[in-house]
Amino acid sequence: MWLNLRWRSRAEDRLDAWITRQHQERVLAGRMIPVGPCPDEASLKSIAKHSKDISLSDPRVNHAANCPACMKRVLELRLVYRSRRRRLMFTAAAGCCLIVVSIVVVAIRRANTPHHSSDMAAIPEIIDLWNAGTNRGDQPTRLQPVSLPAALVKVTIILPRYSEPGRYMVAVTRDQKGIDLVARGSAASTGEVNREEVSVDIDLRNLQRGDYFLLTTHEQNQASYYYPLQIK
Ligand SMILES: [Zn+2]
Repeated sequence: MWLNLRWRSRAEDRLDAWITRQHQERVLAGRMIPVGPCPDEASLKSIAKHSKDISLSDPRVNHAANCPACMKRVLELRLVYRSRRRRLMFTAAAGCCLIVVSIVVVAIRRANTPHHSSDMAAIPEIIDLWNAGTNRGDQPTRLQPVSLPAALVKVTIILPRYSEPGRYMVAVTRDQKGIDLVARGSAASTGEVNREEVSVDIDLRNLQRGDYFLLTTHEQNQASYYYPLQIK
């Protein structure tokens, strides 16, 4: 049905174009007699543009449709306007393509950009255990709790006096037996003689606020010490 209508429409278009061509040939050959004077260039431009400010009943249109000079000029102007319109459409289409390509490129770049969560700056924290009495194993704790934020922290622990140098494992546990370990890190101790400190990155972002234990274990002699820890 649609195809049939479309075919009829094209056939009609062809017929109209043929009639128009026949008329144009007659006019250009000077076989028609125009009525009235030749309109000015601006009017011919309006006619060529199919401008709304010139109605078909305007005598200038009737003149241009029958005057060889005016029709020649209108046909020239129509060619100019058509090529200008094509250029504009091409520019607009190219502009649209450029926008689409830019959007796609930006989207791909965003998708490929890694989220630098692991590169996030760790919050520096210092825990001073220098004067802290040490609790080995499951001895009851009577220490003042130390505290850390629920964040990615770079914690520097000043180890209790008489701590040995070496590599330390630093962990956060829920219990004092070191079974329920929730975060850990390890590093070699640094510092002067008899004053050791260890600096480790620990990710505490997934921890609920509350009471935990901070566990330090000397990796060589396996001596573990627990300190009450509050995650804030
Ligand atoms: Zn004329």
